[in-house]
Amino acid sequence: MSESIKVIQWGLGAMGSGMARLIQRKSGIEIVGAFDQDPQKIGKDLGVFLGGEKSGVVIEAPPTLDGPDGPWNVKGDIVILATSSFTREVAPQIEAVVRQGMNVISIAEEMSYPYAQEPELAKRLDRVAKEHGVSILGTGINPGFVLDTLILALTGPCLEVKKIKASRINDLSPFGPTVIHTQGVGTSVAEFESGLAKGDIVGHVGFQESINLIAKALGWKVDRIEEERSPIISKVRRETPYVKVKPGQVAGCRHTAIGYVEGEPRIELIHPQQVLPQLEGIETGDYINIHGEPDIHLVLKPEIPGGLGTMAMAVNMIPQVLAARPGLLSMAELPVPTALMGDVSEILKWRKGVQ
Ligand code: NAD
Repeated sequence: MSESIKVIQWGLGAMGSGMARLIQRKSGIEIVGAFDQDPQKIGKDLGVFLGGEKSGVVIEAPPTLDGPDGPWNVKGDIVILATSSFTREVAPQIEAVVRQGMNVISIAEEMSYPYAQEPELAKRLDRVAKEHGVSILGTGINPGFVLDTLILALTGPCLEVKKIKASRINDLSPFGPTVIHTQGVGTSVAEFESGLAKGDIVGHVGFQESINLIAKALGWKVDRIEEERSPIISKVRRETPYVKVKPGQVAGCRHTAIGYVEGEPRIELIHPQQVLPQLEGIETGDYINIHGEPDIHLVLKPEIPGGLGTMAMAVNMIPQVLAARPGLLSMAELPVPTALMGDVSEILKWRKGVQ
């Protein structure tokens, strides 16, 4: 038996808690530390907080990032970061982890391909990771899988690709306050419009990243990306653990993006996201159409569940990241994601080529 992989979970919201529970279910991998900024969570035993037995791991406030680079009390092989969506917010956290010599998986949407919107920060993270011999990956269900990694995998059997059109019609109810807020769920139409104008409501975070990553991997150069956002107004009352929506209020955001290559619309992504679409008879699903030689069409009904999918992607990519070359990586640069059904430390040995 190999030594188990040691994980620190940073951020224990809807997603981070689910990831921690998933790791507890697996063998050859364990949680050795947990950080959250919420005073309600700090000081609690992680196992008890997650609804199970005492684990001996106490949830701590995150390390301060503005002081000197002293060693942290807790040391692991990898930190899973589930705190925010934006590279600007998570980059200091990621850099601090990297300076401790630990690898990072982030589910911040913009970290799926930070070169798209924050090239300077991306280059810096890549450099610092290489200096410390560790790897950084941004992943999740979307961005991270459905509208980028899965699309790219489906182009594998193509001789030529002319156009990609894909849509994800999903249910936002598993997600916590961070996602609910950025999608404008539970606002009035006027609040939604002013939130969009102010930038508090952004719709889907990740189109810039998915389109640029797809293009990069295929060898296309994106000239521009056009995005459109409109409110999905509910006709019925909807309620999740995180939000209540009355009839006439906003249940989510219909968001589309088109990436142009040499003036032609080559990558079209459509993503109407709302809580509980089934209450108005809308079926969820993921649809990918590759137009080329040959055409390839994929239909997944219902959608790959976003909450479970995100937790699984973050945890399942741990061996790939620990076996990867140092630097800032994307899903397109790592081997295909797979579930972890056996001893994870043995899977890691195999990925590293150790017999
Ligand atoms: P959430 O609001 O339920 O949880 C966020 C947690 O992080 C909270 O417990 C909060 O206290 C904590 N936190 C925030 N900033 C922190 C900091 N600086 N230090 C320590 N703790 C901090 O959100 P969630 O649903 O768990 O999602 C987390 C993030 O992941 C969101 O930004 C969301 O948009 C993103 N996300 C990405 C994907 C994807 O597919 N890539 C999928 C789901 C969620």
